[in-house]
Amino acid sequence: MKYLEEKLLARNIKPTAVRLLIFKAMLDYPQAFSLTDLETVLETVDKSTLFRTITLFHDKLLIHSIDDGSGAMKYSVCSDDCMCSLGELHVHFKCTHCQKTFCLESIPVPSVKLPDKFLLESVNFVMKGLCDTCSRFGE
Ligand SMILES: [Zn+2]
Ligand SMILES: [Zn+2]
Repeated sequence: MKYLEEKLLARNIKPTAVRLLIFKAMLDYPQAFSLTDLETVLETVDKSTLFRTITLFHDKLLIHSIDDGSGAMKYSVCSDDCMCSLGELHVHFKCTHCQKTFCLESIPVPSVKLPDKFLLESVNFVMKGLCDTCSRFGE
């Protein structure tokens, strides 16, 4: 748990027992997770605590949010040095077969030249298709 505590402290988040529990559950996801996903694995944590913790983690840039078009906001844990700036944004990939959403952290969001006087504030870049596991079934 020491390592998890340090990760929270590095983001100015007081590492309470429940926050550590929630953070650990988040890290167990190899892909992005939704509030509902966390609710099912964290039955002992009440919904409002879970919601407040997600909001706090998001505000402190411990996690980032992904709108993958499924209607439910997805989240993923940020890499240690991520400040979620526009230049650091990466591509997300939603699998149309298993419905999982992945962070493609090695692929930066392409920069586009906007018309004059258009100011960019955020980017939501989601690609859809088959993930590496699901694409194998078609071979
Ligand atoms: Zn898949
Ligand atoms: Zn991501």
